[in-house]
Amino acid sequence: MRVTCPIYEGAQRHPEAEALRFAGQTWTFRALDAEVARWTSALESRGVGQGDRVAVLSTSHPVVTFLFWALGRAGAVFAPLNARLTSAELQPLADAVAPRLTLALESLRDRLPGAEVLESFPANTAPAPALVRTWEEDLPRVILFTSGTTGRPKGAVLTEGAFRASCRASAANLGAHPSPRWLGTLPLFHVGGLAMLTRTAYEGGCLLLHERFDAEAVNRAIDTEGASHASFVATTLERVLDARADRRLPDTFRCALIGGGPVPTALLTRARAAGLKALQTYGLTEACSQVTTERPDEADGRTAGPPLPGLEVRIVGTDGAPLDAGQEGDVEVRGPTRMSGYWNQAEATNDALHDGWLRTRDVGVLDARGRLTLLSRRTDLIVRGGENLYPAEIEAVLANHPAIAESAVVGVPEPHWGEVPVAFVVLRPGHALPDDLDAWCRQSLARFKVPTRFVPIETLPRNAMSKVERPVLRRQAMYQSVY
Ligand code: ATP
Repeated sequence: MRVTCPIYEGAQRHPEAEALRFAGQTWTFRALDAEVARWTSALESRGVGQGDRVAVLSTSHPVVTFLFWALGRAGAVFAPLNARLTSAELQPLADAVAPRLTLALESLRDRLPGAEVLESFPANTAPAPALVRTWEEDLPRVILFTSGTTGRPKGAVLTEGAFRASCRASAANLGAHPSPRWLGTLPLFHVGGLAMLTRTAYEGGCLLLHERFDAEAVNRAIDTEGASHASFVATTLERVLDARADRRLPDTFRCALIGGGPVPTALLTRARAAGLKALQTYGLTEACSQVTTERPDEADGRTAGPPLPGLEVRIVGTDGAPLDAGQEGDVEVRGPTRMSGYWNQAEATNDALHDGWLRTRDVGVLDARGRLTLLSRRTDLIVRGGENLYPAEIEAVLANHPAIAESAVVGVPEPHWGEVPVAFVVLRPGHALPDDLDAWCRQSLARFKVPTRFVPIETLPRNAMSKVERPVLRRQAMYQSVY
């Protein structure tokens, strides 16, 4: 089926409505449509067409949004690269998509030799009239590299149809809004950022784009720019709440989605006490962002909610057979938001997709009402003498200790038990490593779940999505136990 560019549609229906804001500058749908048309012409005049990949290295910047929609109109594929990676990490990703064109923000160009300057791309070519405003929704539209928490990043291939279905499903869950204004603080090289970009376009709303996360700027956008929706990970939500102190939230702010990694219930309770409606969500790149999200009218922060309308979630055992409510197992997802596969990785694709289902590699449990609780990533799961240990459960207990700011628990090989949990702890300022941590854990956790070691660490290593890099800690713990 062919889909019409939502920016073109917006320019016909509500040309003067705000579509994009960035650093004090505003674009209406009419202005954005004109930019997209100019960028489409530039792509066409450079011979970029159906199925061609364009690799892009950039922080969140308005030109990325112009390029994103222009590539859709040209039938080409957007392949954004993580702007925090080093040159050595970037080159293999760029090479993997065999791009027709590689563009980089001027300030990042030295990390990707041979890239053309993104900001001035349309100025360098002689524009020709570009009238195309529709494209096929089932063809590859985006190759999105996963954040690589579990190893080498894989390029998930997503179609416009998947993004559109995701936007519809999200709106059906969150409820109608005449003109949502999403805070765009997640990077546009991540599915969370692209979900906000596409959602605002399809809903005729405005994207309040921020180049990087800054808690003060987020609060300003909430207080003075009418932000209605936001999406945070746990650490960024915490920073927003810290920076707000007691300031009341304006009525224009509707809700924030919180996910991307374990979300402590206590944090969601704190957000709600401050008047910020925070809904836990579970999503992943391969399913075009949200899979389950709490329903606004029944959110209590205890689960990641039920599947979005039109999506299915099931839990299967190690033999692949579906399990009942209350039984823990592997999470699988089915629905129109699923990726088509991994780019040029047939084996990984076959491992991930079967009979319409996506194997997420997450471990979870559904309750009788179909709400999902995430227990762990399959790779983070610690198996101690045959017992499953979920790092998030131990970290939640440590988080309540007055001396601990945050922690990460990883499994380390051990000859007797197979694996044992080791806790890396970041101490609150002025605190030394407390000697009651073992006893503290034992008050709330079964003995086998109590970490065998508590290792103080200044900060937890995190990737571009603020996710804890557990393999780094695992290596560190193994090294320390040997030497
Ligand atoms: P890679 O797949 O390369 O290892 P990644 O999985 O971090 O990278 P993403 O698609 O960004 O890539 O992240 C999705 C993952 O984030 C999920 O599979 C899940 O493990 C985790 N996650 C998302 N939401 C939640 C949540 N509410 N609770 C716990 N974990 C979550």
